[in-house]
Amino acid sequence: MRTTLFTAALSSALLASGSAAQSPRPTVLVLGTGGTIGSAGDYWGGNVTRVPIDQLVRIPGIDSVAIVESEQFLNVASSSIGPARWLELTRRIADIYQARPELRGIVVTHGTDTMEETAYFLDLTVGGIRPVVVTGSMRPSNMAGADGPANLMNAVRAAADTNSRGRGTMVMMDDRLFSARDVTKTNSTRVETFQAPERGPLAIVDPEGVFYRSKSAGRATAQYDVSAVRELPRVDVIYSYPGADSVAIDAVVGAGAKGLVIAGVGRGGMTGSQSGAVRRAAAQGVLVVTSTRTGSGRVPVGTGGNTIGSGDLNPQKARILLMLALSRTSDPAQIRKIFAENQ
Ligand code: ASP
Repeated sequence: MRTTLFTAALSSALLASGSAAQSPRPTVLVLGTGGTIGSAGDYWGGNVTRVPIDQLVRIPGIDSVAIVESEQFLNVASSSIGPARWLELTRRIADIYQARPELRGIVVTHGTDTMEETAYFLDLTVGGIRPVVVTGSMRPSNMAGADGPANLMNAVRAAADTNSRGRGTMVMMDDRLFSARDVTKTNSTRVETFQAPERGPLAIVDPEGVFYRSKSAGRATAQYDVSAVRELPRVDVIYSYPGADSVAIDAVVGAGAKGLVIAGVGRGGMTGSQSGAVRRAAAQGVLVVTSTRTGSGRVPVGTGGNTIGSGDLNPQKARILLMLALSRTSDPAQIRKIFAENQ
């Protein structure tokens, strides 16, 4: 009994080991890409000024957590970050990790609107055991109660923690650390907007340390090596709603989409008119994945038919996985397998 208690105490101490227990002081690099965390000025009036990352990392007490370096990768709203920038960002991270074996971890600051997409893309494409922690803020840097400094401080804490190794890319917001795969923005304005509806956070983070709920899976390889990929295939997301017709689906297929994600009603449903357009698209070799617009829950991956279910990947996450899957194969059976393996 004693041994069991001791072992349990030891393993929870290991899981919860904060940066103070780890020496020498680790180095963490913060890559700034912009977003509200890097904004000031008359934010709500639309007159935004951009704050450089070397200024944002000057947080009282951060030096006790890690030696923090910074690099301005971009300084834009997240609406200006898309597939081409994702490829550049993942390559930059790979280059830095290759050149800097002593670096403990990388933090990426990012606008929160599309943070979940960039984070999931990095999760699928960055190799090695060292973590990438993506963070941002809901309030601009000059607003009372700005959440940026606390989020950035906690992101550095998480990136510096050796227990973060082998966990891929994570999102740090509002004192909680989430898997990039599971996290989604659920509220347009509140600081507690990021949630992982079906799976919950991986850890809570506070000044005492990073408290993971479970051990790292020790993941070391990226699912997708995009070092030679110049462009990702076009994949569009189409919403379903009562009375939706086939116009949007036919239009994106006509524009060259190689894949479609249907943000379906309920368990991936769509109208008869949309189903007809999906059949036509599939007959032309367009890969169609059905997800749900409900915000959580599963759409079964399935074993056959015109569409592949996204499992519990939301439409925007299913799009990322489908883009990467299509960069490797256009065989529907292989892509179905990829979705099944990513559940
Ligand atoms: N519009 C901002 C962005 O995503 C919102 C934010 O950062 O919270 O860039």
